[in-house]
Amino acid sequence: MSNFNVAKFGGTSVANFEAMSRCAAIVEQRPNTRLVVISACSGVTNLLVELANGVSDNDHRSQLLTQLATIHENVLSQLSDATKTASDIYEILDTVTSLAEAASIQPSKKLTDHLVACGELMSTHLLTKLMQERGINAHRFDIREVLRTNSTFGKAEPELDTIFSLAQSRLVPLCQEHIVITQGFIGSDEQGNTTTLGRGGSDYSAALIAEAVEAKGLEIWTDVPGIYTTDPRIAPKATPIAEISFSEASEMANFGAKILHPSTLVPALRHEIPVFVGSSKQPELGGTWIRHQVEDSPLFRALALRCNQTMVTLRSARMFHAYGFLAKVFEILAKHKISVDLITTSEISVSLTLDQTDTTGGAPQLPQEARAELEELCSVEVEHNLCLVALIGNKMSESKGYAKHVFGTLEDFNLRMICYGASPHNLCFLVNEADSKLAIQRLHNQLFE
Ligand code: ADP
Ligand code: ASP
Ligand code: MG
Repeated sequence: MSNFNVAKFGGTSVANFEAMSRCAAIVEQRPNTRLVVISACSGVTNLLVELANGVSDNDHRSQLLTQLATIHENVLSQLSDATKTASDIYEILDTVTSLAEAASIQPSKKLTDHLVACGELMSTHLLTKLMQERGINAHRFDIREVLRTNSTFGKAEPELDTIFSLAQSRLVPLCQEHIVITQGFIGSDEQGNTTTLGRGGSDYSAALIAEAVEAKGLEIWTDVPGIYTTDPRIAPKATPIAEISFSEASEMANFGAKILHPSTLVPALRHEIPVFVGSSKQPELGGTWIRHQVEDSPLFRALALRCNQTMVTLRSARMFHAYGFLAKVFEILAKHKISVDLITTSEISVSLTLDQTDTTGGAPQLPQEARAELEELCSVEVEHNLCLVALIGNKMSESKGYAKHVFGTLEDFNLRMICYGASPHNLCFLVNEADSKLAIQRLHNQLFE
């Protein structure tokens, strides 16, 4: 095992010169933290995604390009000697300009990944130089040399064995000498094409890298001092959780708590790496430890909300007392590589939600070919504008009486696809997007305040 920590700083933590300086101070104060994984500066990935989706209006495109340049120039202007870093940044901005033009003619997933990766490529130049100017022995490393993935652009899957051996040979020795600054979110496939892990993927990158270098700990520095009982932006009375188990935190991430990318805890769990979540703005406030063993396992731990849900309802009278219907449905979904998330069934119908979307954002879609094949079997209805609410806790499937409390609190809401009992750690359902925040606020008020 390596004796150092991996630290990840998200977009708001590297938003500008002041924010980046706070990251540098955190690293200075923690001699054990030797590998730093960062996101693009706040707002940059959104701008790049918009460009990658294809902006044909020339004026609007150049407006977006100017916004991108300004964000980076603001940091450059505060460095003591920005000459070399500025030329690195302008070279990347030139690439962005030509890729954005190409995307305005013919967007593609491969092009999107190449384009959106530029955010992290730029932020790492800036933070490395800023740290060097503070006297830190910082070294920028292009993670595409290590983070090998398959070629599923927009939602690439890591190739763990290759990542491990590349990290051991290239990254670990570098961390003995330097504080290494590298990119979250991006990787490369076997042919050397740039790939991305999906929106919010820097957390996942950091965990994969921590696993591959066999780090002692993983620090996730963000804009809130830890994991809260729910998103504090939705319920201002939400409170931070000092310690949470891997299973509870994984459920939260899976069910949409934006604080962690859904896959983040998988590598950390595999290698039993303790994870800390804290605020880069207020590190003195402490944060949340995610551990295997925790002292307290309350019935209700947290509430999560995931919007942009796509619900597909399949109905067939032939399903009644028949066998093989669901097998056929899942065969079609598998053939089209459609990953299903929630599922509920009745005698003649089955409802399911489609798994989360990739880097380009938006609600997941049922591909037309898959829909046509399903329609040969049954009727197909697709609904959007739904959000998934999840109540996360412990021993929920063994406890009595609380469902009444939950559903009583939400008696005037239209709840769909209630899923309960399969996991001891959650109860979840869909609500209309327009009601979703209120549903979280009501539940938080009743169960946590
Ligand atoms: P970063 O850019 O650092 O990755 P994100 O914006 O992706 O940060 O995630 C942090 C945000 O997650 C917080 O500002 C908060 O609004 C949101 N969030 C959602 N659920 C929670 C939760 N349970 N606890 C804390 N923050 C949460
Ligand atoms: N920059 C990427 C995004 O905004 C990845 C990340 O921040 O985690 O989605
Ligand atoms: Mg994030």
